[in-house]
Amino acid sequence: MRPELLYPLFQPIDSLKGVGPRIAPLVKKLMGPKVVDALWHLPTGIIDRRNRPKVTEAMPGTVATLVLTVDEHRPAPPGSRAPYRVAASDETGTLTLVFFRAKRDYLERLLPVGEQRVVSGRIEVYNDLPQMAHPDHVVPVSDLASIQTVEPVHPLTQGLTPKILGKVVGAALDFGLTVARTAPEWLDPTVVAREGWPSWGEALQAAHHPADHAALEPLSPARARLAYDELLASQLALILVRASLRERAGRSLTGDGGLRDTALAALPFALTGAQRRAVDEIAADMARPARMMRLLQGDVGSGKTVVAWLAMLVALEAGAQAALMAPTEILARQHLETIAPLAEAVGVRIALLTGRDKGKAREDLVAAVAAGDVRVLIGTHALFQADVAFHDLGLVVIDEQHRFGVDQRLGLSSKGRATDVLVMTATPIPRTLTLTHYGDMDISRLDEKPPGRQPVDTRVLPQDRLPQVIEAIQRAIATGNKVYWVCPLVEELETSDLAAAESRYEDLRGVLGGRVGLVHGRMTAAEKDAVMERFTREGVDVLVATTVIEVGVNVPAATVMVIEHAERFGLAQLHQLRGRIGRGTGQSTCLLLYQGPLGEVARERLKVIRDSEDGFFIAEEDLRLRGGGEVLGTRQSGLPAFRLADLATHTDLLAMARDDAKLIAHRDPRLEGARGQALRVLLYLFERDAAVRTLGSG
Ligand code: ADP
Ligand code: MG
Repeated sequence: MRPELLYPLFQPIDSLKGVGPRIAPLVKKLMGPKVVDALWHLPTGIIDRRNRPKVTEAMPGTVATLVLTVDEHRPAPPGSRAPYRVAASDETGTLTLVFFRAKRDYLERLLPVGEQRVVSGRIEVYNDLPQMAHPDHVVPVSDLASIQTVEPVHPLTQGLTPKILGKVVGAALDFGLTVARTAPEWLDPTVVAREGWPSWGEALQAAHHPADHAALEPLSPARARLAYDELLASQLALILVRASLRERAGRSLTGDGGLRDTALAALPFALTGAQRRAVDEIAADMARPARMMRLLQGDVGSGKTVVAWLAMLVALEAGAQAALMAPTEILARQHLETIAPLAEAVGVRIALLTGRDKGKAREDLVAAVAAGDVRVLIGTHALFQADVAFHDLGLVVIDEQHRFGVDQRLGLSSKGRATDVLVMTATPIPRTLTLTHYGDMDISRLDEKPPGRQPVDTRVLPQDRLPQVIEAIQRAIATGNKVYWVCPLVEELETSDLAAAESRYEDLRGVLGGRVGLVHGRMTAAEKDAVMERFTREGVDVLVATTVIEVGVNVPAATVMVIEHAERFGLAQLHQLRGRIGRGTGQSTCLLLYQGPLGEVARERLKVIRDSEDGFFIAEEDLRLRGGGEVLGTRQSGLPAFRLADLATHTDLLAMARDDAKLIAHRDPRLEGARGQALRVLLYLFERDAAVRTLGSG
């Protein structure tokens, strides 16, 4: 379990001094629920209060710290909205201190007439005279040293003042520094020396109290060290998890290739080189006695289904069963429809099981699965309900489960069956990120598309071209095409200019008549499925949607996609969305509407998506333009984001951490030596508890 030495950092964040019930929710929302979350909340800027000019030297717009004599209080006349003014001066001139909505007795105590005070804040000019509105600090001259410093500036949230947040983070830092005094060094001393890094405690201190702007840089020694700690924890965790999976008893699944040959002969096309490579990799992995944990990564339309089918046939040839799990019912049904003719060609019984199956039909199906008569079972997570027992399950294929984290993957494969696992994902992730997030898995990539696909014509248009877009839509549906229309929000907020799916749905219905449908995230699965069904078959030509359509629904007649506020989507997301069209034989068009003015990065991002359909290239560009955290968008991907490391700038550190982790796993796989014990502390510090648990006691 977590070492005692770390306990102070894993207290609830509202146990910190200064976090009362009023601000606790804000603090939690901004940083997280634990003390350690505040420790990772590093400053993004500094205010340098070392500048000590005389009044006449003080430059407007700069932050200055001045020693002034208080001359006179000038309260605002009663009933007036004017501010309260205090005149103060040094030997060179007078500076007016300005307070809006201030209490007179408070200010008289703060700034007694005739006395000297140190004030620090931003210098402004009003009517040609220097002034300072709401000084950040007012203290007696004896306290000058306490404020004439470099003050860290933290990312804020509404309702929290810099002063309060500074106190909270400062309290967390105190705990961090206390822990650092007794924590062992987990990094290799030669690496620390070579990189010129400080110790963990020194790094925390320096990162939280940057002396200058250079100290804010991600590659400054303190920040680099902290980022490296985090990267090392993540890489080591992945490698340990992977090693433990490999150690678990698996089984060797090999077949004579008979079913695969029949299946291949029945396909109306030949496999691409990438598909052949992937099938070979998977079959070789399944043949090994260890348990397979493999990721099949390929763009939308790269042909993952056939590869998965051939993998399932390997299990069948070996006499075992296979299961295919999809995230939604509609996707499960679509898999069934794709696979049914393939199964017929090889004479294999398959079946579908979803949460909707009830009663006698379900009982019969479950019995057939238990008897081994159903060889391939397709479904949702209903597949893993307690009463579903397989006769002999050899392989589980999980579709679109990029929302799974390492912990869940570990849980899945420890369900007690020595089952091989193949995860399919259509999220193209840059290589560096694949390593970071799927380092516990082996990877097969489909980086080649089946031949004969029509490129999608992608255009980027300003929002005010909407009327022409609607005309184009009318023409498209008149000739039997179907249209996706994607909006970023469900309901129009009064204060928001976001195009909202609901009001767009009403608009389009007004223009196009009844054949418009709406799906959004607040509908139940059954409601969504019903609309999707009508879009897939008949009744709906234009589907207005929030991003719920992202997951791989296949509607070959859909040839047009309109995306409003495209500038607000991630590139990977835009690419995923666009992948929904261009699936049939007709020419497809994607219209990206943006609300200007666009910044330089936004412009460049839309250009990338306009000019390329290569998911891996787009993902690399997205990483370059935005950084790793955003590419994966934690909320969307479910993958853990880094708190200290930034994958766009710390790429070299990631590679280093990976090598380091491999070496550690090789030398001390159970983390038993002195450094091993220290590394356990590191893993707990970054909440990689699951990885430590794989080590057993020690
Ligand atoms: P993914 O699941 O990766 O998005 P699919 O497996 O659904 O892609 O395949 C997309 C389409 O391409 C399907 O209609 C499939 O039959 C077809 N397809 C797959 N492999 C090939 C190939 N090698 N040659 C031609 N078409 C292919
Ligand atoms: Mg698919």
